[in-house]
Amino acid sequence: MRLYNTLSKRKEEFVPLEEGKVKMYVCGPTVYNFIHIGNARPMIVFDTVRRYFEYKGYEVNYVSNFTDVDDKIIKKAIEEGVSADEVSKRYIAECKKDMEGMNVKPATKHPLATEEICGMIDMIGTLIEKGYAYEKNGTVYFRTRQFKDYGKLSHKNLDDLRSGERSLLVTGEDEKEDPLDFVLWKPKKEGEPAWESPWCEGRPGWHIECSVMSKKYLGEQIDIHAGGEDLVFPHHENEIAQSEAANGKEFAKYWLHNAFLNIDNRKMSKSLGNFRTVREISEQYDLQVLRFFMLSAHYRSPLNFSADLMEASKNGLERIINAAENLKFLMKNASAEEMSEAEKEAYAQTGVFTEKFETAMDDDFNTADAIAAIFDFVKYCNTNTNAKSSKEYLQKLSDLLEKLTDVLGIIVNKEEEILAEDIEKLIEERQAARKARDFARADAIRDELLGKGIVLEDTREGVKWKKA
Ligand code: AMP
Ligand code: ZN
Repeated sequence: MRLYNTLSKRKEEFVPLEEGKVKMYVCGPTVYNFIHIGNARPMIVFDTVRRYFEYKGYEVNYVSNFTDVDDKIIKKAIEEGVSADEVSKRYIAECKKDMEGMNVKPATKHPLATEEICGMIDMIGTLIEKGYAYEKNGTVYFRTRQFKDYGKLSHKNLDDLRSGERSLLVTGEDEKEDPLDFVLWKPKKEGEPAWESPWCEGRPGWHIECSVMSKKYLGEQIDIHAGGEDLVFPHHENEIAQSEAANGKEFAKYWLHNAFLNIDNRKMSKSLGNFRTVREISEQYDLQVLRFFMLSAHYRSPLNFSADLMEASKNGLERIINAAENLKFLMKNASAEEMSEAEKEAYAQTGVFTEKFETAMDDDFNTADAIAAIFDFVKYCNTNTNAKSSKEYLQKLSDLLEKLTDVLGIIVNKEEEILAEDIEKLIEERQAARKARDFARADAIRDELLGKGIVLEDTREGVKWKKA
């Protein structure tokens, strides 16, 4: 399996730190609003990376934080006249709903920055002790030049940063030893959430959060650290500096970054105001369509959001779901149970689709080509099955389709949820059909319910139902 490492700027063979295990950290959103579909891109992409590792038999420890203390959260809380905690809790809950809709698996752990302050104070203390950080008037800064490898991820040279990219430097902070130094801890301002610390009552800088949460839940060294490409500098560069200076070890082996989701070829972002929330999209489309759309491009290619592409994704997804439903339909009506010799031979040929799928995914998670392999397989299913196919053969094809689409987080065999009141209504209708001696209709209703996993029992007290 090869993956593109931002650190080396090339594709590398994946070798886990511990055999059969993957330790993975993905920077999560700052929670002050509904997430937009740009934020959804890393969620979907890295959930798919996780699923593929799991498909390959790895045990994945997947940690993704929520940044729940930040200037933007505080600003929103002040606007609404509520606490910052209320704002962040509300949008964490909303974000989790969106993730569920997009079939993004919950992380093994979703740490909250506000619950990890002790660990941050500890790491900042270590950095001061080791000479990598210093305090001035209550603020603690990281001494950037002290960390010799600074710039290794973003491939930036410190002197260029200083002379050429002045806009990156924060002005008005004369107390810093060097303009490149960044904040680890800052004093509280009026009305802001704050915690006691050895330096002042205050709150952590953003970068230290991830270094600490990653260490606590995954250990000092991890396999993969991921996020959107805007995080390469300064966020991930600073995380490396903090973690490697504090722990004296390489932090993450592989750094993965998704390209932007654009709209009219500009990055979708809250600040530009050109965003669409996942919630808005869900009013128009099943979020499976959004997921399919995101995976239709390679994660390192920019992807432009458009109504046309969403429609194309909807149609593509329908083709796959129709094939799955067709297999189910044939299975229900099949008379032959076991595979014939011809079917055994035919089934053996389906290995080429799995191979094509895995080759694509092994090559830096090329989901676009993996989807093409699924389409080939769908075409095969549609042309190589009919009313005479055996149940076993159809079941095997259906299982394979489900297995491959599940890696992409696409659900093809949706169990239709049926409400108790709808079941009761159908039972009444069935009783009426029986009375009218319309046994065909009565049987059809029984089968429909059976298809949804509901079994009917005719008892002396009337018709009873239970889940199969
Ligand atoms: P934020 O809440 O801004 O820290 O973003 C959370 C995650 O979404 C980070 O990994 C960002 O890199 C990513 N992200 C934000 N906007 C976009 C975008 N337009 N396209 C792709 N990823 C994005
Ligand atoms: Zn982070």
